[in-house]
Amino acid sequence: MEKKQFQAESKRLLEMMINSIYSQKEVFLRELISNASDAIDKIYYKALTDDTLTFNKDSYYIKVIPNKANRTLTIIDTGIGMSKEDLENNLGIIAKSGSLAFKSENELKDGHDIIGQFGVGFYAAFMVADVVTVISKALGQEEAYKWESEGADGYTITPFEKEQVGTEIILKIKENIEEENFDEYLEEYRLKAIIKKYSDFIRYPIKMEMTGK
Ligand code: ADP
Ligand code: MG
Repeated sequence: MEKKQFQAESKRLLEMMINSIYSQKEVFLRELISNASDAIDKIYYKALTDDTLTFNKDSYYIKVIPNKANRTLTIIDTGIGMSKEDLENNLGIIAKSGSLAFKSENELKDGHDIIGQFGVGFYAAFMVADVVTVISKALGQEEAYKWESEGADGYTITPFEKEQVGTEIILKIKENIEEENFDEYLEEYRLKAIIKKYSDFIRYPIKMEMTGK
């Protein structure tokens, strides 16, 4: 299986995330939930203009599933999903993120403020995970795909089985290192607090499901 390389700029941001220059690692969850919410918005607006789609509010939600036994944190959404091309174009390349340009201008003098003000996006997942897996099925597509990356050395995209349209992101949470604690991102109370802090305004229900206890 061929491993594809990230675009140069993406690689830089990715390296910053992996090396966790930011103290507030917890914002990774805000970024993933905001992407999930955006994806549901997209299917919602499509449904407004497309009679073949019915928007049933109950079937649109975001699920956060910590699993201590597997050391995974899974974020599921029932949004518009990503095709193979979307996975390639949206997760392999930093397209519109203004935050990187801003950061380089400011030479990362104050990473904290920057991260507070700007979305750092999907790559924030690499602050807490050493493997990130994205399984997605786009609206109107038969096939689903799995995008997977262990960080800066690239990513793979392979066909995968997925029934429901939407996206599932599986983070393999890092092992604790010295005074750095990652176990907390598998704790229900901690995740709830992070969600309350950053994602309280999200319009769709955020459900928490415990597994692997
Ligand atoms: P931004 O949200 O600012 O566009 P991100 O790095 O957070 O930047 O995400 C990059 C892109 O990846 C998004 O614009 C979107 O197209 C796609 N994406 C990320 N997560 C999801 C998701 N859960 N469902 C659908 N598309 C997604
Ligand atoms: Mg985003």
